[in-house]
Amino acid sequence: MKHLFFVFSMIIFVFCIVSSVSAEENWNRIVNDEADAKALYQKAVEFTKQMKMNVDRDIYMRFEELEHIKIHASSSGWTSGENVLAFYRPYGPELIFMPKGVPAIDFYTAAVHELTHAWNSSNCPPQDRSVNEGLSKWMEFMACMSVGDRAKSARILGESSVRDPIEYKVVQHLMKLYKEGGIEAVKKYVKETYKYEDK
Ligand SMILES: [Zn+2]
Repeated sequence: MKHLFFVFSMIIFVFCIVSSVSAEENWNRIVNDEADAKALYQKAVEFTKQMKMNVDRDIYMRFEELEHIKIHASSSGWTSGENVLAFYRPYGPELIFMPKGVPAIDFYTAAVHELTHAWNSSNCPPQDRSVNEGLSKWMEFMACMSVGDRAKSARILGESSVRDPIEYKVVQHLMKLYKEGGIEAVKKYVKETYKYEDK
């Protein structure tokens, strides 16, 4: 009887190890497959829900070659398109363009970034680019930290500080607000702020 119990618990133990390994996502894989892209996009939607930064509608994801996305982005006039990986189009119809052939972690954090723009467009007044981008960057950073990729999280901050120092200040400010007052403090700030000011 004792022996049976031992075998039984060993089976459970091994099963737990195997299932925890298989549940582990390989964040370095390249996303080329539409089903994989959809699953990752859905995971990004779930993250925005967790953070209470989701919109109450489904936003269609268009999975395209990066070159096409750059063209859509630059022809929209919203951005130069050069450094674009993904792109949120608020109307005509509302869409999120997501790239083929990038690592899963980049795809996932970019999806969170663009979904945050969608939240922003329906919850905040028109505002300075630094505040709008700062919020999306901060969410991108939070999503990256939540899957335990510290190296990329640091890179997100580094790139932000180089590209737009004001945007980087917004990101830092949001971190402080989140630490002190949680997501509601972050939301309150971005809903009420047109332009970042040092205080
Ligand atoms: Zn953006």
